[in-house]
Amino acid sequence: MRALTKLTAGPGLELVDRPEPVCGPTDVKIRVLRAGLCGTDLHLHQWDDWAASTVKAPLVIGHEFYGEVVEVGEDVTSVQVGDKASGEGHVVCGVCRNCRAGRRHLCIRTQGIGVNRDGAFADYVVIPATNVWVQPSDLDPDLGAVFDPLGNATHTALQWPMVGEDVVITGAGPIGVMAAAIARHAGARYVVVSDASDYRLALAEHAGADLTINVTRESLADAQHHLGMKEGFDIGLEMSGAAPAVSDMLANMNHGGRIALLGLPHQSYDLDWGKVITHMITLKGIYGREMYDTWYAMSQMIATSERFRSAVTQVITHRFKAEQWEEAFETAKSGQCGKVVLDWS
Ligand code: NAD
Ligand code: ZN
Repeated sequence: MRALTKLTAGPGLELVDRPEPVCGPTDVKIRVLRAGLCGTDLHLHQWDDWAASTVKAPLVIGHEFYGEVVEVGEDVTSVQVGDKASGEGHVVCGVCRNCRAGRRHLCIRTQGIGVNRDGAFADYVVIPATNVWVQPSDLDPDLGAVFDPLGNATHTALQWPMVGEDVVITGAGPIGVMAAAIARHAGARYVVVSDASDYRLALAEHAGADLTINVTRESLADAQHHLGMKEGFDIGLEMSGAAPAVSDMLANMNHGGRIALLGLPHQSYDLDWGKVITHMITLKGIYGREMYDTWYAMSQMIATSERFRSAVTQVITHRFKAEQWEEAFETAKSGQCGKVVLDWS
């Protein structure tokens, strides 16, 4: 099969011919039809310190995908050959304290598909049946490929009830833009999104943001002023990983404000802890998706709202054939894009 592979420790990737993965008794084998590119894939390609400390080559990368089930292990009853499915990218141990309590997103031994085990930038991927999310047969395959990042956005945005709240989202990457669509859908009053890219802020506007702020020209205080807000934002969704974005967010929260942080910083940074304490701000880190309540919530939003579906679909701005993977990676790196999807069909 074709597989985009990290063959040796170091920069670069190669599209090579590899044996098809073997489907164990509790596994499912999926013919990949679409796969989304994520910042993680760019890090793996470039081989930064994180990649060097995490990856054991050879490794097939890729973890955002949608495809058709072609084989199920002998012990699998929940999935059938012919089902269309997306995959949860975190494989959990099932036996640690959190797994046994049903809090699988908090598993202490989480393994990432396409990071710690062979992934989905290939004709076939094998994952545990418990990681399969069976999709309606008429779902747009491109949408099926973005359930993983849509799940990050959903998990972050739905930490607290949104109805009537003023929400600020820092970072209009694909996940920040999808979070704006969720906040709109879930009943926020104002949804404000900040980024340094006008291209990406336009996607956020299409997704339902009331106001976008280009941080090279304006700040969140200006946003409050434009909207006639007097007290500050109630909910913050941090989706940039950028220290200045977190500072500006913290400076513009109402007392008692709640901030969910998804964006991964490249290094540790200072924060105005005095403000966190005296303004009684709640900070919550978010990783992955809840298994599988996040999947349930996003599936229902996609199924029931045409507006929401189209807001998420427009986040997919570029599509490439698998053979054009280098162009796809260049596009994703440029930042002049939303989500980039590879077609493996
Ligand atoms: P992305 O890198 O495409 O988007 C980040 C955006 O933040 C960019 O558009 C960038 O221009 C913007 N940005 C940079 N500095 C900013 C600033 N000062 N103010 C406002 N915006 C600024 O990433 P993505 O794929 O949308 O993912 C969002 C973040 O979530 C990334 O940091 C990613 O690493 C992280 N992530 C975390 C998890 C998790 O489980 N915690 C999962 C997936 C992604
Ligand atoms: Zn576990």
